[in-house]
Amino acid sequence: MKKFFYQCSNCGKHYQRDEVRYLCPLCARDYRPGVPLIGVLSARFDYGAIRKQFRKEKPDWNLFSAVEEKFFPPFPVGNTPFFQSVALGKETGFDDVWLKNDGLNPSASLKDRASFLVVAEANRLGEKTIVAASTGNAASALAAVCAAAGKRALIFVPANAPKAKLAQMILYGATVVPVRGTYDDAFRLSLEYTAKRGGLNRNTAYHPLTIEGKKTVGLEIWQQNHWRVPDVILVPTGDGVIISGVHKAFCDLKAAGLISRLPRLVCVQAEKSNAIDHYVVSGIYENAVNPDTIADSISVSIPSNAHLARQAILDSGGFSITVSDAEILAGQRMLAAKTGVFAEPASSAVVAALKKLRGSRRIGRRDQVVLLITGHGLKDVESALHGLRLPSAVSPTLAAVEAALKARARKEPS
Ligand SMILES: [Zn+2]
Repeated sequence: MKKFFYQCSNCGKHYQRDEVRYLCPLCARDYRPGVPLIGVLSARFDYGAIRKQFRKEKPDWNLFSAVEEKFFPPFPVGNTPFFQSVALGKETGFDDVWLKNDGLNPSASLKDRASFLVVAEANRLGEKTIVAASTGNAASALAAVCAAAGKRALIFVPANAPKAKLAQMILYGATVVPVRGTYDDAFRLSLEYTAKRGGLNRNTAYHPLTIEGKKTVGLEIWQQNHWRVPDVILVPTGDGVIISGVHKAFCDLKAAGLISRLPRLVCVQAEKSNAIDHYVVSGIYENAVNPDTIADSISVSIPSNAHLARQAILDSGGFSITVSDAEILAGQRMLAAKTGVFAEPASSAVVAALKKLRGSRRIGRRDQVVLLITGHGLKDVESALHGLRLPSAVSPTLAAVEAALKARARKEPS
């Protein structure tokens, strides 16, 4: 039997594992969709026991898991590459730049981590249907894990979600309901649905194990970084759950006495989807009006986890920054050309942010900086094609090839 309890991030009240399912019942009594979630729950482990049992030579990550291994779905996630990019460091003006490429998860986004743990919880509870609202990646991740686990996924997505993500969900066998509206509309609908019809709701932050699942990326970074804590981690931020998950990883490690400091977390948002950025900078929460960005994965008016995300950023000594769509697309091209990593626009925002931070002194030139890549570029090829010119075809002769290459070299002197 797992030893952990839930603590309300708002009032601090403790709950036993099966006493609550989603939000703190006291704090969320008056919650209505249309504002960030109130009373998000956080899992608290027996950190003294972890300290005694954890061995770096043979790390048992189940000590940090809120669901027992026997309930895990047959869908391996994580263990994605973590590596330094000297070329990207040179290009952005920092000495020690690293990538954590979570776009290489099975459904091509970090969201596989959260879906994996929620489906494990559904196995434990005997729930057959899992419901979620998503901008696309969480839904395709849930659909994939449900396919592997023999569960039904019911998914609400904005009708304008990128086609590759819709194709993934449908192919994995999910029941997909495109909604004529925004992600916020899809979020509200999915809550109404599970309140009336049941099933386990996987909405991000609403189900506390979404944060726990995403936490594993932080634990992995620590291990892959040879048990060192990076100085700074840049995180693409929409709803604010990934950044809270990364923070939770290092808070758990610190509580267990395994590390002594936290990495500074930098929240990266799109200029036109900046509710958390505005909240961090001004201390005042306001919904983002008409979030409109090419980075669909971080496009949100009412970030569900705004309160915890702000706490995580401030507690870590980090800060927040926004980037424009043009900067995001330039970041995407730079990342691809310098590292061979093709990331979706949301993830490319962290490259744009690092480029913008050059010379600002908000990050030290020698700091170890980690860029968290959360989704693969092939999920949204249409966006990547913005501003790219596809070369025209040539006749199949060497003379034609040479003429075309010469003409191109004249146009693009390198
Ligand atoms: Zn509470």
